Amino acid sequence: MKTTSNANSRPDPLAVGRKCHELIVQLFPICRSITGNGFRQTLAHIEKHIPLTIHEVPSGTQVFDWTVPREWNIRDAYVKNSCGERIIDFQRSNLHVVNYSIPVSGKMSLDALKQHLFSAPEHPDWIPYRTSYYRESWGFCLSHRQLEQLVEDEYEVRIDSTLENGSLTYGEFLMAGTTEDEILVSCHACHPSLCNDNLSGVAIATFLAKSLMSSPQRYSYRFLFIPGSIGSITWLSRNERNVHRIKHGLVLSCIGDRGSLSYKKSRRADAEIDRAAKHVLKHSGHEYRVAAFSPYGNDERQYCSPGFNLPVGRLSRTPDGEFPEYHTSADDLNFVDAPSLGNSFNQCLSILEVLEENRTYLNQNPKCEPQLGKRGLYKTFGGYGDSQQQELALLWVLNQSDGSNSLLDIAERSGLSFALIHQAADALQGHGLLRESELGRAQSITEPETMRS
Ligand code: ZN
Repeated sequence: MKTTSNANSRPDPLAVGRKCHELIVQLFPICRSITGNGFRQTLAHIEKHIPLTIHEVPSGTQVFDWTVPREWNIRDAYVKNSCGERIIDFQRSNLHVVNYSIPVSGKMSLDALKQHLFSAPEHPDWIPYRTSYYRESWGFCLSHRQLEQLVEDEYEVRIDSTLENGSLTYGEFLMAGTTEDEILVSCHACHPSLCNDNLSGVAIATFLAKSLMSSPQRYSYRFLFIPGSIGSITWLSRNERNVHRIKHGLVLSCIGDRGSLSYKKSRRADAEIDRAAKHVLKHSGHEYRVAAFSPYGNDERQYCSPGFNLPVGRLSRTPDGEFPEYHTSADDLNFVDAPSLGNSFNQCLSILEVLEENRTYLNQNPKCEPQLGKRGLYKTFGGYGDSQQQELALLWVLNQSDGSNSLLDIAERSGLSFALIHQAADALQGHGLLRESELGRAQSITEPETMRS
């Protein structure tokens, strides 16, 4: 009988949540961007936990309709008043500089400086996060309260940055399973000192990979740590020939806050990942949301573009743009916490477990019900559910296992959890009452390649 992984053999979610938070604390101060040394330093931290292949794609490389931009690096930036005091200081928060600002050095009046200052009046104490990736410009971000207090003066402005030919960096970890079929886990790692968006996704992906490495898996797993949008576009453009191996995928983003979990379906809407995620959240005992696909959000936009239409959904807690702290200095180390990170990690593992264990079986005693009592199958077989639920699960699995229903189909139809149905199937297989259906297996692994309009 094959071994069954279950919730009992999992790492303690809260302990993993704490490790995720520790990694976020280490990564928080680094000034990341879509290119540059901050991104490389981030990958170096992740490499302490899992092996990564680091890819460097030269500036100017054409990737579909886009071009890999020049590489941006920054050492220092400030605005000094006439007394020589740094009133805006990159060393205090890297959010103070508009990400991708070109180098600047000079003196200017308050009016001239104000053309380059950005604040968030609706949250006067927070520093907004601004970028200027594809348009050469420069600027500083500051709290609205500070902006209002600036007085007429001659200001010294300096941004010690470089924008030069270099490369776009991303990290990749391919963990071989017993099949070449892949599960993609993707997260963006290009934001500077912001936690929910996107260090939470980076931390969960890192510890998921670490956890999955500890035992053999059926699927191969591909973990991507990429800059948002341009990273997935670049990866897809370099891996177009192999994307057919991706059978399921998850984008992890904004997954460490205290809100409830939220799953955004793939463009296909009824892919196995969509059904697995919905099933796990429904049986999690916590509030949850399932949203339809929309062409707005994170890298799922690229994976689900019509030319690829990959079965990739997105798992978040409070999705980007739906919390006031989003893209501001308030998305800080206190906005994410270990219990939420641990819960997210645990639900991710449950979703992956459904995909790993979802198989289709054939009842070996299909003419009337087999006598379960004489096989000792009416006794509880441990693990999930009470004896009544376990008996129901046995009957459901036996009745539906005609080679056309997967365990996930049976779980959905019966209203029982996948874990319970899977456990019943294991018990029945152990008594020779079930055999895996090769036909059903092929069907469950190969998603229809149909394109939706
Ligand atoms: Zn963002």
